[in-house]
Amino acid sequence: MSDSTEQSLTRSQAVEKVLAQIDGPVTMDEICRRVLTIWPSHARNPLSAMRTHLRQDHAGRTLVFLDSKTILPLPIAMRGVRFRISLSRQEANRGALIIHPAFDYFLRHELDPAAVRLLDQEDHPLPVHLITVQEQVNTPFGRQKIERAAFDLSLWFRTQRVRRHDSILVTITDWTNGAFRLEHEPARHRRREEIEQRDRELAGLLFDMLEESHREVVYSLVAVPTAYARLSDPRGYPGSHWIDVIGGDPRLRYDGWAIRYSDWRSPLERMLYEEEPIPQAAFSPAHGQQVYRFKAGLWHRPGLWRTVEIQGEQTLAEFDAILRQAFEHDAFDHLGGFWKLVRRGKGKRFRQVSLGHIDPFGGGSGSEVQIASLGLEPGQDLKYVYDFGDWIEHRVTLEEIVESEKRAKYPRIVARNKPRYTDCQSCQDQGRKSRATWVCIECSNQQQRDVLLCEGCLVGGHEEHYTEQILY
Ligand SMILES: [Zn+2]
Ligand SMILES: [Zn+2]
Repeated sequence: MSDSTEQSLTRSQAVEKVLAQIDGPVTMDEICRRVLTIWPSHARNPLSAMRTHLRQDHAGRTLVFLDSKTILPLPIAMRGVRFRISLSRQEANRGALIIHPAFDYFLRHELDPAAVRLLDQEDHPLPVHLITVQEQVNTPFGRQKIERAAFDLSLWFRTQRVRRHDSILVTITDWTNGAFRLEHEPARHRRREEIEQRDRELAGLLFDMLEESHREVVYSLVAVPTAYARLSDPRGYPGSHWIDVIGGDPRLRYDGWAIRYSDWRSPLERMLYEEEPIPQAAFSPAHGQQVYRFKAGLWHRPGLWRTVEIQGEQTLAEFDAILRQAFEHDAFDHLGGFWKLVRRGKGKRFRQVSLGHIDPFGGGSGSEVQIASLGLEPGQDLKYVYDFGDWIEHRVTLEEIVESEKRAKYPRIVARNKPRYTDCQSCQDQGRKSRATWVCIECSNQQQRDVLLCEGCLVGGHEEHYTEQILY
């Protein structure tokens, strides 16, 4: 059925062999079928296993997804794609193009830059000389000097009269072997409106990919070629470089290898800037008087809820205190914290933006933050966590913003779920009826059932045990 040479192919080699025979967009399932004929799979669901392999191991490396089901081999997707390098002062002065990061994902990772071919506008080869230049970069530890590889183009830059602020427009003529055509665009020839339009399109594509990603991150190795392949005119007049597009978009940030939401912070940054100020908007005294009515429920037991009112000028510390009271959490121990839930895309997924934490003594990064400064609209969901050890989550939804009542004292609890009381089991066993207000954790664990007790039975037999109050 199969000959020995086909058998010795790895799965990735089989995929590459199939991709080499394809010259345009094709469905993912067609690729899977073709690969499976030359690389028989023993997976329980070969088609599904192959789809996963294409998404995880080939996207951005050998192919791109034009949409969730359509594939284009990367060499075809990148052929003729144009991008812009806005020259730094150093590049213009030295007559060089610094390779990283300008050529990232346009120059195949496995290729040695010395093997790159550069062509001028008339397709005449330019000599490729690799040099090293020193560059100052900003790091969390201050400015540092690093060495970068660059193409020495001093002769060509001189004949072209290249100056700072000019651009080099690069066309990928052969992605597989690393060939690029260079054009010099003087700053005065820059078509600003077209560039802005293209930048918006590219930023939108990258942002949509981020919104669709499950883990709030897209890896640039995949995202950059995919976004360029999805542009309406990737071979036309180029917009800004993708790094500049991300830098100019307030929604996005690039950390050197991944694209994320702009308010994402790395563990290192969180350590360094722990007390980073929370973005707050100014508000009028009248808005400060207004009352924010929130419905707060336990995340995993939404039937347990309280409605809480707080005024715009009041703080997250006061909000934390009333929520502790509402859910009978200890007021003198443990941290509390607030997050804003921001919807991602059109689905039900959301991401969490920290609004700060409150310590039980009223301090903490969020303690001074006033409710009205958060710019909340009715329908907005927050998350409140009590106790960063036990991590008790509450979903807190802003129901409406109303005028304050005269002589009312805020914050206050104005409604709660109808309690469904349970009876004390010890009393029940003795033919009495009383409300259970405690659960004995030790006895519950031992007996593998909830041991629910009234105040009297608690004192009469479980004083030494670990118990918790029941929340109704
Ligand atoms: Zn009892
Ligand atoms: Zn007990």
